[in-house]
Amino acid sequence: MINDTLLLGVMASHPGMSAEDTLAMVKTLAEGSYRIQSGIINSKGSAGVDSSKKDDVVLKVNPKKAIGKDKIKCCVCGKEFSMLTKAHLAEHNYTREAYLNLCGYDKKTKLVSKNLAAERKATTEKSKPWEQTPQWKKKQAKEALAKSTAETTAEVVQESPSLP
Ligand SMILES: [Zn+2]
Repeated sequence: MINDTLLLGVMASHPGMSAEDTLAMVKTLAEGSYRIQSGIINSKGSAGVDSSKKDDVVLKVNPKKAIGKDKIKCCVCGKEFSMLTKAHLAEHNYTREAYLNLCGYDKKTKLVSKNLAAERKATTEKSKPWEQTPQWKKKQAKEALAKSTAETTAEVVQESPSLP
């Protein structure tokens, strides 16, 4: 049986999580709590439930002012980056989705500085991302190699003295 309090708690602390993931987590937590109650796990610490983490997150930076021209600030800790990585958000126990939700950003918001976003957009438009597949890259590398080999061969042929 799934505990409602647990469900609400998980929903509150992970607002960006999908229903499926929420249920999975509740199930895990419920099982953990059952194990604690039944003495399978004696120490609360080993159950993996972090009860010290509160739901009220105080943002250090106003999300509306966090994305600057050259830097983007992490709203949670206030550090500046040219882009906010998943790894950094994970340090605060946030997924990208949860962070966007926390800051009230649109789902499509790019967590990079404005300059970098503009740069990337330009690069993407130029580089045709649909051609950036591993197969395509492999083919390109192969062709480049073939080309350079051909050029080298041509040079060698030109440089070597021709016999009469
Ligand atoms: Zn941070």
